[in-house]
Amino acid sequence: MDLQLDGKRALVTGASRGLGYATARQLASEGARVAINSRSKDKLEVAAKTLKEEIECELHTLPGDLTEQDTPAKLVAGAVQALGGLDILVTNAGGPPSGPFESFDEPTWQKAIDLSFLSHVRLIRAALPHLRKSSSASVLTITSVSVKQPIPNLVLSNSIRAATIGLTKTLALEIGSEGIRFNSILPSWTETERVYELMSQRAEQKGTNVEDEIQAQSDGSPMGRMGKPEEFANAAVFLVSPAASYITGVMLPVDGGMYKGTL
Ligand code: NAD
Repeated sequence: MDLQLDGKRALVTGASRGLGYATARQLASEGARVAINSRSKDKLEVAAKTLKEEIECELHTLPGDLTEQDTPAKLVAGAVQALGGLDILVTNAGGPPSGPFESFDEPTWQKAIDLSFLSHVRLIRAALPHLRKSSSASVLTITSVSVKQPIPNLVLSNSIRAATIGLTKTLALEIGSEGIRFNSILPSWTETERVYELMSQRAEQKGTNVEDEIQAQSDGSPMGRMGKPEEFANAAVFLVSPAASYITGVMLPVDGGMYKGTL
Protein backbone atom coordinates (compact mmCIF):
# COMPACT_ATOMS: atom_id res chain seq x y z
CA MET A 1 0.00 0.00 0.00
CA ASP A 2 1.24 3.48 -0.83
CA LEU A 3 0.81 5.68 2.24
CA GLN A 4 1.15 8.74 -0.04
CA LEU A 5 3.47 10.46 2.42
CA ASP A 6 6.12 11.43 -0.11
CA GLY A 7 6.82 15.16 0.28
CA LYS A 8 4.26 15.65 3.09
CA ARG A 9 5.33 18.20 5.69
CA ALA A 10 5.27 16.97 9.29
CA LEU A 11 6.04 18.33 12.75
CA VAL A 12 6.63 15.74 15.48
CA THR A 13 7.20 17.03 19.01
CA GLY A 14 8.95 15.14 21.82
CA ALA A 15 10.99 13.36 19.18
CA SER A 16 14.60 13.10 20.34
CA ARG A 17 13.87 9.51 21.43
CA GLY A 18 11.14 6.97 22.10
CA LEU A 19 7.75 6.99 20.40
CA GLY A 20 8.20 10.46 18.92
CA TYR A 21 11.57 9.58 17.41
CA ALA A 22 10.27 6.30 16.00
CA THR A 23 7.33 8.13 14.42
CA ALA A 24 9.55 10.82 12.90
CA ARG A 25 11.90 8.15 11.59
CA GLN A 26 9.08 6.20 9.98
CA LEU A 27 7.62 9.35 8.43
CA ALA A 28 11.04 10.21 7.00
CA SER A 29 11.46 6.70 5.62
CA GLU A 30 8.14 7.13 3.79
CA GLY A 31 9.47 10.29 2.13
CA ALA A 32 7.91 12.92 4.38
CA ARG A 33 9.79 16.14 5.13
CA VAL A 34 10.02 16.29 8.89
CA ALA A 35 10.68 18.79 11.71
CA ILE A 36 11.42 17.33 15.12
CA ASN A 37 11.36 18.91 18.57
CA SER A 38 12.54 18.15 22.08
CA ARG A 39 13.66 20.14 25.10
CA SER A 40 17.39 19.60 24.82
CA LYS A 41 19.08 21.10 21.74
CA ASP A 42 22.05 18.75 22.11
CA LYS A 43 19.98 15.57 22.38
CA LEU A 44 17.86 16.69 19.46
CA GLU A 45 20.93 17.24 17.29
CA VAL A 46 22.27 13.79 18.21
CA ALA A 47 18.90 12.23 17.32
CA ALA A 48 18.78 14.11 14.00
CA LYS A 49 22.32 13.00 13.15
CA THR A 50 21.46 9.35 13.90
CA LEU A 51 18.29 9.51 11.83
CA LYS A 52 19.99 11.16 8.87
CA GLU A 53 22.75 8.54 8.92
CA GLU A 54 20.10 5.84 8.62
CA ILE A 55 17.72 7.50 6.19
CA GLU A 56 18.33 10.02 3.47
CA CYS A 57 15.76 12.67 4.29
CA GLU A 58 14.94 16.31 4.89
CA LEU A 59 14.99 16.88 8.64
CA HIS A 60 14.83 20.07 10.70
CA THR A 61 15.42 20.46 14.44
CA LEU A 62 13.36 22.79 16.63
CA PRO A 63 14.40 22.70 20.29
CA GLY A 64 11.95 24.05 22.88
CA ASP A 65 10.18 23.17 26.12
CA LEU A 66 6.53 22.36 25.47
CA THR A 67 5.50 23.31 29.02
CA GLU A 68 6.26 26.96 28.25
CA GLN A 69 3.21 28.83 27.06
CA ASP A 70 4.79 30.44 23.98
CA THR A 71 6.88 27.49 22.78
CA PRO A 72 4.23 25.52 20.82
CA ALA A 73 3.41 28.52 18.58
CA LYS A 74 7.11 29.12 18.00
CA LEU A 75 7.64 25.48 17.05
CA VAL A 76 4.76 25.54 14.58
CA ALA A 77 6.06 28.81 13.07
CA GLY A 78 9.54 27.28 12.82
CA ALA A 79 8.23 24.15 11.13
CA VAL A 80 6.13 26.13 8.66
CA GLN A 81 9.09 28.33 7.82
CA ALA A 82 11.41 25.35 7.30
CA LEU A 83 8.93 23.18 5.40
CA GLY A 84 6.87 25.81 3.58
CA GLY A 85 3.63 24.68 5.26
CA LEU A 86 2.25 21.85 7.35
CA ASP A 87 0.25 18.71 6.52
CA ILE A 88 0.84 16.58 9.62
CA LEU A 89 1.12 17.40 13.30
CA VAL A 90 2.05 14.74 15.87
CA THR A 91 1.68 16.10 19.41
CA ASN A 92 3.82 14.24 21.93
CA ALA A 93 5.94 14.96 25.01
CA GLY A 94 7.36 13.14 28.01
CA GLY A 95 4.99 11.75 30.62
CA PRO A 96 4.18 13.36 33.99
CA PRO A 97 5.77 11.89 37.14
CA SER A 98 4.44 8.71 38.72
CA GLY A 99 3.14 8.52 42.32
CA PRO A 100 -0.04 8.29 44.39
CA PHE A 101 -2.64 11.09 44.56
CA GLU A 102 -1.49 12.53 47.88
CA SER A 103 2.13 12.93 46.80
CA PHE A 104 1.41 15.77 44.36
CA ASP A 105 0.99 19.45 45.24
CA GLU A 106 -0.77 22.15 43.20
CA PRO A 107 2.30 23.29 41.17
CA THR A 108 3.01 19.67 40.17
CA TRP A 109 -0.56 19.24 38.91
CA GLN A 110 -0.29 22.52 36.99
CA LYS A 111 2.99 21.48 35.40
CA ALA A 112 1.52 18.12 34.41
CA ILE A 113 -1.48 19.88 32.86
CA ASP A 114 0.87 22.13 30.87
CA LEU A 115 2.87 19.11 29.71
CA SER A 116 0.21 16.50 29.02
CA PHE A 117 -2.79 18.62 28.01
CA LEU A 118 -2.10 22.28 27.24
CA SER A 119 0.88 21.46 25.02
CA HIS A 120 -1.55 19.63 22.70
CA VAL A 121 -4.06 22.51 22.83
CA ARG A 122 -1.42 25.12 22.07
CA LEU A 123 0.25 23.15 19.27
CA ILE A 124 -3.06 22.44 17.55
CA ARG A 125 -4.29 26.01 17.95
CA ALA A 126 -1.12 27.35 16.34
CA ALA A 127 -1.15 24.72 13.58
CA LEU A 128 -4.79 25.01 12.47
CA PRO A 129 -4.38 28.00 10.10
CA HIS A 130 -1.59 26.13 8.31
CA LEU A 131 -3.35 22.75 8.30
CA ARG A 132 -6.38 24.45 6.71
CA LYS A 133 -4.20 25.19 3.67
CA SER A 134 -3.25 21.50 3.27
CA SER A 135 -5.21 19.10 1.07
CA SER A 136 -4.49 16.17 3.44
CA ALA A 137 -4.25 17.61 6.95
CA SER A 138 -4.01 15.32 9.92
CA VAL A 139 -3.30 15.59 13.65
CA LEU A 140 -2.27 12.74 15.92
CA THR A 141 -2.18 13.15 19.69
CA ILE A 142 -0.09 10.63 21.60
CA THR A 143 -1.76 9.82 24.91
CA SER A 144 -1.88 6.52 26.83
CA VAL A 145 -4.00 3.43 27.30
CA SER A 146 -4.39 4.78 30.86
CA VAL A 147 -7.36 6.82 29.59
CA LYS A 148 -9.27 3.56 29.11
CA GLN A 149 -7.83 1.61 32.01
CA PRO A 150 -6.08 3.65 34.73
CA ILE A 151 -2.54 2.48 35.48
CA PRO A 152 -1.62 2.11 39.19
CA ASN A 153 0.55 4.89 40.62
CA LEU A 154 -0.05 7.17 37.61
CA VAL A 155 -2.82 9.48 38.80
CA LEU A 156 -1.50 12.48 36.86
CA SER A 157 -1.41 10.62 33.55
CA ASN A 158 -4.69 8.78 34.23
CA SER A 159 -6.49 12.07 34.90
CA ILE A 160 -4.97 14.61 32.56
CA ARG A 161 -4.68 12.54 29.41
CA ALA A 162 -8.44 12.01 29.45
CA ALA A 163 -8.73 15.73 28.65
CA THR A 164 -6.52 15.29 25.59
CA ILE A 165 -8.81 12.52 24.39
CA GLY A 166 -11.81 14.83 24.86
CA LEU A 167 -9.97 17.49 22.90
CA THR A 168 -9.04 15.14 20.05
CA LYS A 169 -12.57 13.77 19.64
CA THR A 170 -14.16 17.23 19.88
CA LEU A 171 -11.88 18.59 17.17
CA ALA A 172 -12.65 15.62 14.92
CA LEU A 173 -16.34 16.49 15.26
CA GLU A 174 -15.98 20.28 15.12
CA ILE A 175 -13.45 20.58 12.31
CA GLY A 176 -14.00 17.37 10.35
CA SER A 177 -16.02 19.14 7.66
CA GLU A 178 -12.89 21.15 6.79
CA GLY A 179 -11.06 17.95 5.90
CA ILE A 180 -8.68 17.93 8.86
CA ARG A 181 -8.52 14.57 10.67
CA PHE A 182 -7.84 14.16 14.40
CA ASN A 183 -6.91 10.83 15.98
CA SER A 184 -5.12 9.63 19.07
CA ILE A 185 -2.93 6.61 19.78
CA LEU A 186 -3.11 5.11 23.25
CA PRO A 187 0.16 3.24 23.79
CA SER A 188 0.78 0.91 26.66
CA TRP A 189 4.14 -0.54 27.69
CA THR A 190 6.52 0.02 24.80
CA GLU A 191 10.26 -0.52 25.03
CA THR A 192 11.46 3.06 24.83
CA GLU A 193 14.44 4.52 26.68
CA ARG A 194 12.06 5.93 29.28
CA VAL A 195 10.55 2.53 30.01
CA TYR A 196 13.99 0.95 30.12
CA GLU A 197 15.06 3.59 32.68
CA LEU A 198 11.91 2.91 34.70
CA MET A 199 12.52 -0.85 34.68
CA SER A 200 16.19 -0.28 35.68
CA GLN A 201 15.03 1.75 38.70
CA ARG A 202 12.60 -1.00 39.67
CA ALA A 203 15.33 -3.61 39.33
CA GLU A 204 17.68 -1.57 41.49
CA GLN A 205 15.02 -1.12 44.20
CA LYS A 206 14.09 -4.80 44.19
CA GLY A 207 17.56 -6.25 43.63
CA THR A 208 16.47 -7.94 40.40
CA ASN A 209 17.59 -7.27 36.84
CA VAL A 210 16.05 -5.20 34.02
CA GLU A 211 15.09 -8.21 31.90
CA ASP A 212 13.15 -9.73 34.83
CA GLU A 213 11.29 -6.47 35.42
CA ILE A 214 10.43 -6.10 31.72
CA GLN A 215 9.12 -9.67 31.72
CA ALA A 216 7.14 -9.17 34.95
CA GLN A 217 5.47 -6.10 33.47
CA SER A 218 4.85 -7.91 30.18
CA ASP A 219 3.01 -10.74 31.92
CA GLY A 220 -0.06 -8.44 32.15
CA SER A 221 -0.31 -8.37 28.36
CA PRO A 222 -1.96 -11.17 26.34
CA MET A 223 1.01 -11.08 23.98
CA GLY A 224 3.41 -11.55 26.88
CA ARG A 225 5.78 -8.83 25.77
CA MET A 226 6.12 -5.08 25.49
CA GLY A 227 5.67 -3.30 22.18
CA LYS A 228 8.52 -2.01 20.06
CA PRO A 229 8.67 1.70 19.18
CA GLU A 230 8.58 0.69 15.48
CA GLU A 231 5.27 -1.13 16.05
CA PHE A 232 3.83 2.04 17.54
CA ALA A 233 5.26 4.12 14.68
CA ASN A 234 3.71 1.86 12.01
CA ALA A 235 0.25 2.61 13.41
CA ALA A 236 1.04 6.31 13.87
CA VAL A 237 2.31 6.80 10.34
CA PHE A 238 -0.69 5.02 8.85
CA LEU A 239 -3.15 7.14 10.84
CA VAL A 240 -1.61 10.45 9.76
CA SER A 241 -1.19 9.37 6.15
CA PRO A 242 -3.61 10.09 3.29
CA ALA A 243 -4.13 6.30 3.16
CA ALA A 244 -6.24 6.72 6.32
CA SER A 245 -8.34 9.45 4.70
CA TYR A 246 -11.69 8.24 6.16
CA ILE A 247 -10.40 7.62 9.68
CA THR A 248 -10.97 10.41 12.17
CA GLY A 249 -11.98 10.68 15.84
CA VAL A 250 -10.38 7.32 16.55
CA MET A 251 -8.71 6.49 19.87
CA LEU A 252 -6.51 3.56 18.92
CA PRO A 253 -4.87 1.48 21.66
CA VAL A 254 -1.53 0.11 20.47
CA ASP A 255 -1.13 -2.06 23.51
CA GLY A 256 -0.75 -5.72 22.51
CA GLY A 257 -4.26 -6.34 23.90
CA MET A 258 -3.48 -5.04 27.39
CA TYR A 259 -6.76 -3.13 27.65
CA LYS A 260 -9.30 -5.76 28.66
CA GLY A 261 -12.56 -3.90 27.94
CA THR A 262 -14.76 -4.53 24.92
CA LEU A 263 -15.31 -0.90 23.87
P1 NAD B 1 10.42 9.30 26.33
O1 NAD B 1 10.64 9.93 27.66
O2 NAD B 1 11.33 8.19 25.92
O3 NAD B 1 10.49 10.42 25.21
C1 NAD B 1 9.83 11.64 25.38
C2 NAD B 1 10.33 12.66 24.38
O4 NAD B 1 9.70 13.91 24.68
C3 NAD B 1 11.83 12.91 24.47
O5 NAD B 1 12.30 13.25 23.18
C4 NAD B 1 11.93 14.12 25.37
O6 NAD B 1 13.09 14.89 25.17
C5 NAD B 1 10.70 14.89 24.93
N1 NAD B 1 10.19 15.80 25.95
C6 NAD B 1 9.92 15.51 27.26
N2 NAD B 1 9.46 16.61 27.87
C7 NAD B 1 9.42 17.59 26.94
C8 NAD B 1 9.05 18.95 26.97
N3 NAD B 1 8.64 19.53 28.09
N4 NAD B 1 9.16 19.68 25.84
C9 NAD B 1 9.61 19.11 24.70
N5 NAD B 1 9.97 17.83 24.61
C10 NAD B 1 9.89 17.09 25.72
O7 NAD B 1 8.90 8.85 26.33
P2 NAD B 1 8.18 7.73 25.44
O8 NAD B 1 8.29 6.43 26.13
O9 NAD B 1 8.61 7.84 24.02
O10 NAD B 1 6.66 8.17 25.58
C11 NAD B 1 6.11 9.22 24.82
C12 NAD B 1 4.77 9.60 25.45
O11 NAD B 1 3.90 8.47 25.45
C13 NAD B 1 4.92 10.04 26.91
O12 NAD B 1 3.99 11.05 27.19
C14 NAD B 1 4.58 8.78 27.66
O13 NAD B 1 4.12 9.03 28.97
C15 NAD B 1 3.49 8.19 26.77
N6 NAD B 1 3.37 6.76 26.97
C16 NAD B 1 4.46 5.95 26.80
C17 NAD B 1 4.35 4.59 27.02
C18 NAD B 1 5.53 3.68 26.85
O14 NAD B 1 5.46 2.54 27.30
N7 NAD B 1 6.62 4.10 26.24
C19 NAD B 1 3.11 4.07 27.43
C20 NAD B 1 2.02 4.90 27.59
C21 NAD B 1 2.17 6.26 27.35
